[in-house]
Amino acid sequence: MNLLKVFIFCLLKISILSFSLFSQETVPQISFTFDDPVTDSATTPTGPDEYDEILKTLERFGIKSALFVCGKRVNSPAGRELLKKWDKKGHLICNHSYSHSYFHSNKISLEDYEKDMLRCDSLIKDHSNYTRLFRYPYLKEGNTLEKRDGFREFLSGLGYKNGSVTIDASDWYIDQRINDTLKENPNADLAPFREFYLLHIFERAVFYEELAFKLTGRHIKHTLLLHYNKLNMLFLGDLLAMFIEKGWKLVDAKNAFEDPVFSEVTDVLPAGESLIWGLAKQSGKYENILRYPGEDSEYEEGKLNSYLSSFKSK
Ligand SMILES: [Zn+2]
Repeated sequence: MNLLKVFIFCLLKISILSFSLFSQETVPQISFTFDDPVTDSATTPTGPDEYDEILKTLERFGIKSALFVCGKRVNSPAGRELLKKWDKKGHLICNHSYSHSYFHSNKISLEDYEKDMLRCDSLIKDHSNYTRLFRYPYLKEGNTLEKRDGFREFLSGLGYKNGSVTIDASDWYIDQRINDTLKENPNADLAPFREFYLLHIFERAVFYEELAFKLTGRHIKHTLLLHYNKLNMLFLGDLLAMFIEKGWKLVDAKNAFEDPVFSEVTDVLPAGESLIWGLAKQSGKYENILRYPGEDSEYEEGKLNSYLSSFKSK
């Protein structure tokens, strides 16, 4: 090798090295996914326009989301309108089963669960942004080997992947409490709920981000699970602004799901919860910080109550 060749070779090496260094993200990254769009419940919207604010907020921040559709909640003209609207705005339209069954129930067989998934697939498959991602209701992926592996095989046979959540939280519970409060007093001050929501989501995000970093040695692209509800209609904009202010980078859900972490398949039973929870459980190293279920209202009820009463006494 003459000197020039050596020089070029070294230059090439350096540029490859610096590329791989710079391509490693230096800040946490997060995408936003929404489960259970609905048009027909008493506590939730009455028409397809009701929660347009969520769409407008996503548009304002220039990010695309993924909508995980539970078929029974949108199997109506209004429901179909809602899906069309999200599809037109470029958000992924994904499967969240038809009936929202609890897979770990002994009453639900693998076969029932498969049929139910296909019923939702037929409702969403004609949308332009239809994407073969399945999100398990309650993030329950099987309580027996037969159910867990049987359904995984079924999904991959259809070209589907798991629409895993990396950051799980209980936004649905805060929403429930807002709806209860508004029923009692339609003019109630919702500021404490807003503050609690921001604190809670960020606290869970940091928990899963730190755990993910320990497990992978890098900042993965996260998928945060939120719901299509009043809480997010009111305060999603504040949430997105908070993440930016805290130095997180907002990314599109499609981009996030391409992160290699989503190819990981966990070997734990019962299976499910956040993907990061599953990877941590599988490693056997984090028993002291892993609870089961990973997230639930039981962890938040007391905290929210004391937050609300401290707000009153201010
Ligand atoms: Zn759901």
